Amino acid sequence: MGESLAPGPGFAVVSLTLRPQETFFTPVDPLLAPIATKVDARERLSFDDGVALYRTPDVHTLQALAQTVRTRLHGARTFYNINTHLEPTNKCVFQCRFCAFAKKLNDPEGYAWSVEEVLAHIRETAPEHATEIHIVGGLHPKLTTAYYAELFRAIRREFPHLHIKALTAVEIDFLARMDRLSHTEVLKRLIEAGLGSMPGGGAEIFDPEIWDQICHQKPGFENYLAVHGAAHRLGLKSNCTMLYGHIESIEHRVDHMIRLREQQDRTGGFQAFVPLAFNPMHTDLEEQGWTTGLDDLRTIAVSRLMLDNIPHIKTYWIMVGVKLAQVALSWGADDLDGTVTEEQITHAAGADSPQALTVDRLHHLIEEAGLVPVERDTLYSEVVPPHPQPLSHQWRGERGEAIQSSRMTFNEAVDLMEHCHDLAALGQAAHAVRLARHPEPVVTYIVDRNINYSNVCTELCKFCAFYRPKGHSESYILDRETFARKVEELREAGGRQILLQGGIHPDLKIEWYEEMLRWLRSDYPDIAIHGFSAPEIYRFAEISGISLRETIERLRDAGLQSIPGGGAEILTETSRQRISPLKITTDQWFEVMRTAHDLGMRTTATMMLGCGEAPRERIEHLERLRQLQDETGGFTAFICWTFQEENTALRGKVPLAGAHEYLRMLSIARLYLDNFENMQSSWVTQGAKIGQLALFHGANDMGSTMLEENVVSAAGTIFHMDARGIERVIRDAGFRPQQRDFFYNPVEPRVPVGC
Ligand code: SF4
Repeated sequence: MGESLAPGPGFAVVSLTLRPQETFFTPVDPLLAPIATKVDARERLSFDDGVALYRTPDVHTLQALAQTVRTRLHGARTFYNINTHLEPTNKCVFQCRFCAFAKKLNDPEGYAWSVEEVLAHIRETAPEHATEIHIVGGLHPKLTTAYYAELFRAIRREFPHLHIKALTAVEIDFLARMDRLSHTEVLKRLIEAGLGSMPGGGAEIFDPEIWDQICHQKPGFENYLAVHGAAHRLGLKSNCTMLYGHIESIEHRVDHMIRLREQQDRTGGFQAFVPLAFNPMHTDLEEQGWTTGLDDLRTIAVSRLMLDNIPHIKTYWIMVGVKLAQVALSWGADDLDGTVTEEQITHAAGADSPQALTVDRLHHLIEEAGLVPVERDTLYSEVVPPHPQPLSHQWRGERGEAIQSSRMTFNEAVDLMEHCHDLAALGQAAHAVRLARHPEPVVTYIVDRNINYSNVCTELCKFCAFYRPKGHSESYILDRETFARKVEELREAGGRQILLQGGIHPDLKIEWYEEMLRWLRSDYPDIAIHGFSAPEIYRFAEISGISLRETIERLRDAGLQSIPGGGAEILTETSRQRISPLKITTDQWFEVMRTAHDLGMRTTATMMLGCGEAPRERIEHLERLRQLQDETGGFTAFICWTFQEENTALRGKVPLAGAHEYLRMLSIARLYLDNFENMQSSWVTQGAKIGQLALFHGANDMGSTMLEENVVSAAGTIFHMDARGIERVIRDAGFRPQQRDFFYNPVEPRVPVGC
């Protein structure tokens, strides 16, 4: 059965067929058609093909082609290892402009460990079942070939189970020059001492002009290839890399890949290609900024397609972040690197990824993407672990049956939610629906801020880290002065809306809220008021002893213009009883929304996934939303995000949803909620990279700048972006940014956004 994902004039004609593995999309971009034919015939791609793949706006075909090759090579098998990183010195005689790790030889913050200090460090940090130690560091004139040979021997003696993957080509070359030996001779001595393989660092970008601008002290790229060639001839395996996202062009990247491919044709020892996303903080190239999510994924996909003779493409979560790395497994990568444990080099450049991942977490990330985790050793042999494996909990594999949606049925959606992990197919189908609804290449966003007027709450939701009981030392009701300052800050930033959100304060009656709204209306008539979730409004009515209808009317008459869809979480009683038994029920949530729509007020609808709900419950949630939207048409947008667990009572008790699950959910929501105009990207919980990718999984809106957010951030989310950052992300994805109001009317920015 072939796939059919053609975008048509309306979403009624869009259909999603779960694909058998060796079939191809019909590219939307005609430039990709001959490339797809070559990939199908397993022919080598040219430089021009690589550039076309990098530049195509048809990102779903790029993804599908890369996944086809990845699946052809490895099926669903996805590799990781248990490893630990170690940097014996951070002192370096060179000063590469992209590096935030190295210290000068006389810098008091510099260090160089003795062999005994290194061993002590390994004893302290290496995970129990580690199979590999990864050693790289600065170029220190006292750490000679003899030092490393002694170090490797000592490691072999004390930790015979650890494979030593050590020293980049630049370090080997430095040792050779310092000790007046050939590359081969240095390598022979180190192999004899225990060196098992080489990492791929130090490749940067091979183009001589770029090389000269970012690391002119290092010997040129020929040296990098010569060292790896020498290693391969001695039977040593190695990895290769590319540091991208600084001053190079797309052409430089493709040229780099081709030079690696040619080296592999000559000596054949590269095991994996690892694209390294430039992390800019504290480097000389800080103004270049971070790579975007789409750029990271394009690089993974293009490298999978160009490097036809390198078996593995590794996504290095340390550099791109855990969420993006998980999604990269659906863009051509087959290796999620390892547990790592204490990485310093990228973290010195501002990486906000964790220092280590557990085996359980790696398994969860891989399985959530519908793939099969395989623990490997450094040389890609499967490890039969002596330790218990995390339970595999997911059904896997392709169903191969057609799911057609003139209007997707409940059962079809449940089937997709339970079984379809093909992010390429889901994303393309959702994107086609989005384009049918919004054909213009525009992505909207609003400049607004949340104001949390009080954190006192009686509902004690287990997923909530924001609330404090009445009388708690950290409880508050925002005073008028602070409130006014927050609104004025928003004005200065060109904002046009506030989102009022609080807990449920048992003493505050409707008059208190009316007074607040009237004050805002009269003092800030230019700022729209979007506020109060369904649970807040429902309890305002109860506390005030008036009907729901009267409550909403009075709030509206006092100045409330629209209502956010918060407090929905998962709209089934099974979930609500488990995570928020005191909160309003599903029916009550819908009663608030129906009444508001009836009174002519528009609202949004939300979902928080990953708090232990069954896949079917998510579709039950969507089904109720779709029904009400059919009745009233009052929802302007759907927004979903993932549960954040820090500081909550649910921490460690539910399997969290990762980025793959978020994008899957968003795609399925776009397909199912055929009567919703707008879908927002939740970059606040997912980060800018996944937030950008959401634009290819059904979202047409980047939500808001959210100058301030306290509810989700109390549970551990830390992502921030201003209007300029949002516009950069939108433009990089090939869309035009457009500011909007709550009703999705285009508006002119109130202050220039800058470029
Ligand atoms: S989620 Fe809302 S209702 Fe629940 S405890 Fe937190 S503030 Fe209260």
